[in-house]
Amino acid sequence: MSLAGARMREHSPTLDQPFPHYRYPAAPVAFLPKEDVHPIAFGPIPSRRLGQSLGVNHIPPKHCSYACLYCQVHCVTRMTATRREFFPADTVIGRVRQRIDECRHQLQAVDYVSFVPDGEPTLDVHLGRELAAVREAGLRVAVITNGTLLWRPDVRRELAGADLVSIKVDAATEAAWRRVNRPSPELELDRVLAGIAEFARAFPGELLTETMLVAGANDDEPNIRAVADFVAALDPDQPYLAIPTRPPFETGVRPPADDVVVRCYALMRERLPNLELLGVEIPGEFGRTGSTLDDLMAILLIHPMLEEAVAAYLQKAGLGLDALEPLLAAGTVQRVAYRAQCFYASRISPVVAGGSPDLAPRP
Ligand code: SF4
Repeated sequence: MSLAGARMREHSPTLDQPFPHYRYPAAPVAFLPKEDVHPIAFGPIPSRRLGQSLGVNHIPPKHCSYACLYCQVHCVTRMTATRREFFPADTVIGRVRQRIDECRHQLQAVDYVSFVPDGEPTLDVHLGRELAAVREAGLRVAVITNGTLLWRPDVRRELAGADLVSIKVDAATEAAWRRVNRPSPELELDRVLAGIAEFARAFPGELLTETMLVAGANDDEPNIRAVADFVAALDPDQPYLAIPTRPPFETGVRPPADDVVVRCYALMRERLPNLELLGVEIPGEFGRTGSTLDDLMAILLIHPMLEEAVAAYLQKAGLGLDALEPLLAAGTVQRVAYRAQCFYASRISPVVAGGSPDLAPRP
């Protein structure tokens, strides 16, 4: 079944209006948490992408240019695409330096200082100064952004000072963009995509992209093809495909069915050979024992594999595809047909309402 077909089957009763219209409260300047109760610097916490990551939360919740369906920030969006000061730059820099000093004192490793606030980091008019201050402290800096302000030369210039930038690309068709990201009325998709492309062309650091799939919102074949073409043109160091794993703020938001995720993965991989799945929890028992099946499971969790590749992998250990039968029967591994090919993948979708407490990216 095609992606569109699978989506029709799952969502046909509500396809015309799959999600409620979203109302965007204005962003009142007065709504800012007090500096002494807002944790501007936190961690470090382990991150699959960034190692030990000391987080910077320099935007009050949830000032953002998007109102993504899957957002985990538990409050109403303060919709804005206009840059401004949220905290004085000296406050942010002071808190981050203080946390860095504490980590050094406690001999805690910090691989990255990551700007991952409860909103969109590039809305902060002081971002460039803050990034420079972290680098002056001798640490690598990462920014996780939705990319909506990269059409602005000042934002591109400031982000160029980061060592690593991860950009959200959930949609490249207008309809999917409006469904999954619910953008500020100030934004236009063409301009957003052009800004991201211009930034990617000149950025000297490590560039990641991330595409989050939501059932019925952006998992249709036209959008997946458009996203794959767009991301391939960016030529990122690492593209990721992700599914929601932590409970979103809004109810009724689900990852696509496993077979749809695998088909989206296979479709995007035609343009992005190094695509990885993100958001799949890696259980402790896999990849630790060194056994062939455990090692294979560890691979399948992030790289669904063609049947021929799985057979070749097993053959090296003197095993056949029948070695997977118990895992297939238990549902731990699934076999998914896509066009004329068969993929093997780990069971992908978690139960979102109690799902994994980590790995889910923001913004
Ligand atoms: S997921 Fe990120 S970009 Fe989307 S609304 Fe939440 S904070 Fe904004």
